[in-house]
Amino acid sequence: FVLNVLARRIDAVRELAESWASREVVVGAAIVHKGRLLAQQRSYPAPDAGRWELPGGRVEPGEDEQAAVVRECREELAVEVRPTGRVGTDVPLNNGMLLRIHVAELADPTAIPEAVEHHEVRWVAPDELTDLDWLDADRVLVHSLRDLLAEA
Ligand code: C5P
Repeated sequence: FVLNVLARRIDAVRELAESWASREVVVGAAIVHKGRLLAQQRSYPAPDAGRWELPGGRVEPGEDEQAAVVRECREELAVEVRPTGRVGTDVPLNNGMLLRIHVAELADPTAIPEAVEHHEVRWVAPDELTDLDWLDADRVLVHSLRDLLAEA
């Protein structure tokens, strides 16, 4: 009986851990086009306003990461993207979540991303990457992003 209760407790903890793991991810999109990377400048919240980030956001329940990347780019940039792989390492965020970057390309190469809820969007050349005032988590990835552009 005791073992049974213990086993059920362990299952419950494992389920909790798994649900946490799947809820913790914030996806970012490294959209590459003609050797440049798309960055967007935040307009909120106040401490982040004016700083730069890759487009992205929380993965919603029942959604996979690629679908979240596509949805966030639709919401934030009004463009369709196609995820093609991953870049860099997972970066821990202050709120306990993990930032994980997916590489993506514009589904329509002539589409023009818009700053729907941001101050500005910009195509950044490799030698300009370090000049931007990135959010802390995104700054960790700048070298990986430069390597990504070098391969493109
Ligand atoms: O955009 P959203 O508020 O859904 O992002 C959730 C969290 O992930 C925020 O704390 C935001 O600052 C962080 N984030 C980040 N870098 C990104 C995208 C989001 O640090 N490129």
